[in-house]
Formats: sequence, structure tokens, C-alpha cells
Amino acid sequence: MRYTGPKCRLCRREGVKLFLKGDRCETPKCAVVRRATPPGMHGASRSKPTEYAKQLREKQKAKRIFGLNETQFANLYAEAAASNSPTADYMMSVLELRADNVLYRSRLVDSRQQARQMINHGLFMVNGKKIKTPSIRLRVGDVLSLDPDCKSNNFFVSREITQPATAKWLQVSPKSFSVTVAQSPEKDDFEQVIESRMLVEYYSRS
Ligand code: SF4
Repeated sequence: MRYTGPKCRLCRREGVKLFLKGDRCETPKCAVVRRATPPGMHGASRSKPTEYAKQLREKQKAKRIFGLNETQFANLYAEAAASNSPTADYMMSVLELRADNVLYRSRLVDSRQQARQMINHGLFMVNGKKIKTPSIRLRVGDVLSLDPDCKSNNFFVSREITQPATAKWLQVSPKSFSVTVAQSPEKDDFEQVIESRMLVEYYSRS
């Protein structure tokens, strides 16, 4: 079941910023900045975690950042384990290439959740074709762009993109609200908050 409670609680639970709320995450109002202890009565007094607990938390963190459910994540691991690439790198590469993540990384929107919503509502296209599935996996050369019919959407009319994309493997055209996957993401490009090795350790023991 998808979590629908307060987002900042998830960051406090994991003890790191998961950047789930867009602009607010960069400000001193961020709940992790204001109160870094885990939520709940005994949040600050938890005992030292076991290796398994650390792996579980890493998996939860990755699920929350990328918005996957348990089955999707387990399927991703199975696909990665059956591939010829290192399992952890394969998993992270697939996550980075999701359409919602590419849109977030391009900075055309403020958060992965916002990217998911906009794609669900049919505001974006891949190579000129409308998409409604945030998990679509992009390939090198694919262009993700705002549907020209949606350019009058208030969000984009007032949108000023002042910061560069957070991923060097993407080419962003802020004026046309489009982003091209220029190359495959490499290890250095993967979401640094996640220790992907622990994801593999978690799934390979179960
Ligand atoms: Fe997480 Fe953003 Fe809330 Fe900070 S503001 S706790 S990074 S969701």
C-alpha cells in the first residue's frame, strides 16, 4: 500500500533528506534540518541497528525516494540479478532512467512526486507521443518534453528555471521544457543518498 502520510516524517525516519517536497527541502524549514531525530516517542533513543536493519532502511529509503512499491522493487531486483551487469548498478541505472526521475533531475519540476503527477495527468510526451506512466524507462536519445498543448498551464507560464540540471547525462532545454537523455547514467550520477550495495544484500538474503 502506498504511504499517504506526512512526507517529512519519512525523511526523519531515514535520518536524511529524501527531497520529497521540492523547494522547501532546500530551506531551513526542512524538518531534517530543524529536528534530525526519528519521529515517535523513542525516536532519539533507538539502539544500534543490526546489519539487516540497516539494509532494510536502505531499501525503504530507495523506495521512498523513487516512489516504488514493494512488488515493483522486488521485480526490479529480480531483473537486475538476471542481467549481465553488476546488480546494484543495474538497479540504480533503471531507477535513474524512469521518466519521472529524468523530469525531476532536469529541474523542469520541483520533486519526483510532482513529476509523477504531471506525467499521470498527461502533460508530457516522449519522442512526441503522450505518456501517462511515470515509470516508463527512457533510453539514450529519448526526448521528454512538455506537450505543446499544455504550455499555457499556470505552472509552466510562471516557471523560471534558474538552476542547471542535477544530472550531467541530461541535456535540458528550459525554453521548450524538454530534456534529452544524452548518455547513460554512470555510477557517479546515481542518487548518492542510497547505498545500492545494501539493496542487493537485502534482497539476496530473502
Ligand atoms: Fe524531507 Fe523535504 Fe521535508 Fe526536508 S522538507 S524533511 S527533505 S520532504
